[in-house]
Amino acid sequence: MEELERYKRQLLLDEIGEEGQNLLKTKSCLVVGAGGLGSPALFYLAAAGVGTIGIIDGDEVEITNLNRQILHKTRDIGVAKSKSAKEKLLELNPYINVCEYNFFLDKENGDEIIKKYDVIIDACDNFETKFLINELCIRNNKAFIHGGIYNFKGQLTTIIPGKTLCLKCLFEDVPKEVLQDDKRKGVIGAIAGVIGSMQALEAIKYLLKIGDLLSGYMLEVNGLNMKIRKIKLPGPNKDCPICS
Ligand SMILES: [Zn+2]
Repeated sequence: MEELERYKRQLLLDEIGEEGQNLLKTKSCLVVGAGGLGSPALFYLAAAGVGTIGIIDGDEVEITNLNRQILHKTRDIGVAKSKSAKEKLLELNPYINVCEYNFFLDKENGDEIIKKYDVIIDACDNFETKFLINELCIRNNKAFIHGGIYNFKGQLTTIIPGKTLCLKCLFEDVPKEVLQDDKRKGVIGAIAGVIGSMQALEAIKYLLKIGDLLSGYMLEVNGLNMKIRKIKLPGPNKDCPICS
């Protein structure tokens, strides 16, 4: 009873209700990266009562993470991010299962882990891993929510295999500016909060089959001038080496 009581304010929503809440408890979401995007995404998935949450991250908490990675506290410096994250999520909601993978997603471990989850959130900070998530999700027919941030800007889209274009259709290669410009590493924490929260919202909608997803659209948020654009994306590229 106490368990349902905590969800009272979302049980009031016609789109969720007790039925949706019970459904959410049976669902699972893997978050790749327990950093800037992963922090808000994981907090909101846990708070909403997504039954099983996976966290994969091989990094340890560093002091320079703390301006945006709000799962981790000053006392966690040097602790594995997956461990620190799991601890915070269970403090917030002890009624969920949290699976911790204290290593990086790679070609060898990827399929086995991704297969276990209903939806994936790309909350990592490098294109190599983003392309790997894309490849694994397309191969295993899993929807994933791509998110990215730099400086004051962020973007997200929901990729559904067989329906929308994939990340490789969208970016043939690592965007040049990512490689060239070290200034792109600068980031304000609140933009990670905005995009990561939206990723959690997309995942919850996907799991409950409610609302309209950002599939086939890219949402671009510029936090410096508060311009938000929703851009229609083309369909899958017929020559894409990953999804065609
Ligand atoms: Zn593709």
